[in-house]
Amino acid sequence: MNWSEEQVLALIAYREHNEHMQLLAAAHHWTELGQADTVCWGQGQEGEQVWRAGVDSASAQFACSCPDGSHPCVHSVALLLFWMRTPVHFPLAEPPEWMTWWQAERPADAARTGGRTRYTPIWVVQKALEHPDQPERLARQQHGAATLATWLQALLAEGLPFAQYLFSSIWENQIAHLFEHELPGLGRALRQIAVLRHQPGPQALDDLLAALGDLYLLTQAFQHPEPLSPAEREDVRLRAGIHLLARERVLATQPGVADTWRVLARHTQPEERFGPWYHRRTWLWGQRTGRYALWLESDWNPPPSSSGLQPRGQYTGPLHFYPSAYPLRATLDLAGWVRQQSGGEMVPPGISPWQLAEAYAAALQQQPWLTEWPVTLGPVVPVLTSPTEVQLYHPQEQCLVPLHGPAQEVWQLLATSAGAPLAVFGEWNGQALQPWAHWAVAASPTELSTP
Ligand SMILES: [Zn+2]
Repeated sequence: MNWSEEQVLALIAYREHNEHMQLLAAAHHWTELGQADTVCWGQGQEGEQVWRAGVDSASAQFACSCPDGSHPCVHSVALLLFWMRTPVHFPLAEPPEWMTWWQAERPADAARTGGRTRYTPIWVVQKALEHPDQPERLARQQHGAATLATWLQALLAEGLPFAQYLFSSIWENQIAHLFEHELPGLGRALRQIAVLRHQPGPQALDDLLAALGDLYLLTQAFQHPEPLSPAEREDVRLRAGIHLLARERVLATQPGVADTWRVLARHTQPEERFGPWYHRRTWLWGQRTGRYALWLESDWNPPPSSSGLQPRGQYTGPLHFYPSAYPLRATLDLAGWVRQQSGGEMVPPGISPWQLAEAYAAALQQQPWLTEWPVTLGPVVPVLTSPTEVQLYHPQEQCLVPLHGPAQEVWQLLATSAGAPLAVFGEWNGQALQPWAHWAVAASPTELSTP
């Protein structure tokens, strides 16, 4: 279509965004500009942020590598505006590889959907996975994993910056493809990478490469499970997102582990981009066995707080662990559980950062597909290491443990500690701890000198 400047300006409704977009439609923000037929492209930069954008003016399609969720984003519209105003800045050229990927990929109905990706709703996927062993389902999943493996190979062949600045819609299409093939775990892993690629700092490319390599290995393990033990196969399938709802089977086939279980933490999170679909994670710790367990529930709307186990509650009953080389996921039948009203509060013993490193390495050795590993650190003192960063200081080993996760949890740690030692329970991801619960612990005065 032939655009008027008025039509282009109208694409960005918010006044502030519109003003920002017009500032970006200037030569000093752009390099690698080009045009061919009805498309134009360019690499943009503003401060630290770098992006690649492309526009097909004929079909009114916009693409950008930025994490901005709005469509079209300010960068792609600024590119179109800049092109219309000063086409002389856009040499006629063959579109670069990152444009041809987009051009090859755009679905035939993109004009109708405006280039937006359509997802298979998560509840459709979850429903389908209630019967995970159907041969046609397994074949579809195998095909999905194989397609992802091929895509990852092609992506890496172009180099890491290519992956970093690939248009967001291409990532989204791949993620949607995985949900379509009933591989929600692979879809979530790919989404994490799509977010991770925007991470700033010198570590960014290393982290991106490691995450892409991890996901590729997972596709290989999923496609070729023959050399794996039955428990390892289950771990791979669980990581791929399969067996999410086969709770009854676990209850019927896995022996119960009886103990008095303490509810360490419980939190409910919405499934990203899927509206009223929620996951509730409950972390438990058994007094007699010393085992941690994760009870995961998924449902429409947040599950009501009255159902299930109460935070900090203590219950006696059996937990049934999902088969795994390092069993953590578990399920239970609440009917058989009894709440303990007395007997004093029990908590897991805290370990030191070095003990954490050793225990985590041992756990990874058993189960290389671990995504979150439960641990209690203590005694530690939350300290401010920069104006915006809180870390956990372990006085005896004199080392700091980085934190990640919701800012609220992290700042609450600092506030409740007020310099006193705590034990902190959380999920360790190999680099940082996401804190979910904490309690006061005693420490000798000599241990309290913080850096
Ligand atoms: Zn953008």
